[in-house]
Amino acid sequence: MNDLLVVKNLYVNFLVEDVSVKAVNGVSISIKEGETLCLIGESGSGKSVLGLSILRLLPENTEISGEIIFNGKNLLSLPEKEMRKIRGKEIAWVPQSPSTSLNPVLKVGYQVAEPMMLHLNLSKKDAYERTVELLDYFGIHPARRRAGEYPHQYSGGMRQRALVAMGTSTKPKLIIADEPTKGIDVIKKVRVVKLFEKIKKDNNKLSLLLITHDIPFAKKLADRVAVMYCGQVVEISKAETFFEEPLHPYSKSLLNSLPSKGLKPIKGHPPSMINPPKGCKFHPRCEFATDKCLKEPPFFECNGNLVRCYLYD
Ligand code: SF4
Ligand code: MG
Repeated sequence: MNDLLVVKNLYVNFLVEDVSVKAVNGVSISIKEGETLCLIGESGSGKSVLGLSILRLLPENTEISGEIIFNGKNLLSLPEKEMRKIRGKEIAWVPQSPSTSLNPVLKVGYQVAEPMMLHLNLSKKDAYERTVELLDYFGIHPARRRAGEYPHQYSGGMRQRALVAMGTSTKPKLIIADEPTKGIDVIKKVRVVKLFEKIKKDNNKLSLLLITHDIPFAKKLADRVAVMYCGQVVEISKAETFFEEPLHPYSKSLLNSLPSKGLKPIKGHPPSMINPPKGCKFHPRCEFATDKCLKEPPFFECNGNLVRCYLYD
């Protein structure tokens, strides 16, 4: 399959007063048509910023460089007017917090219908009929009545599904979902997994970028995994091998910190994004660090996976 999205050498700095926060530090990743890439890592590692950069939804005080090629176009050099056509139509963003992402004073049906009127030129009536079908598809029942309700009349899980309905309504090529399982219980998590499986099954060309620190969730859905640490991608591996044999020492600690692996905490402190460590950003916490690690490691290939660590030189 072809690459749908290619991010090349992306740097994102936030300027806050006179300091610069290095949120993304030279990231290159790609997503193929039909692929699910899970971006994992602790909070504050730059995952959401990377997602928001792809949609160009970052605040004003941001310096951004590199390339983001989507479907052959560099999104970073598109005029805002062109970008608006891509955002919401070709790339959908499913935000982190379902309770604050829906407008409380508008009926859910209207909110789901709006992108279809805007991007697919559907009439109000047709968009509304399509909305009822979508709500039904995503298990919001009875759909016609639910379409006429306000967000506060929905449960948390229903709001989450309404956001996914809104995101998928325009049949985007790429959906970026930020922490879709954050703050929900295990039963609802199973529903979210099923929902993404269903969307993928019904549209095998759709690509997904799932940003999550929920590793069991990533394991259920990923084709490939990219691990972020301190604004960098430190490993990109196929899901078949990653969850059994992660390569990077940070990936290993991340998997070992799961309850099923005995909850071993990752030693040391998360790195500063203002003055990140020199060389390998993980070296202050890495039990294998040597002097060599004070120089930034490049990516090394290991059985078709990529890892930024000298142990694989
Ligand atoms: Fe550890 Fe060195 Fe590998 Fe970094 S490059 S993860 S410090 S061994
Ligand atoms: Mg985040």
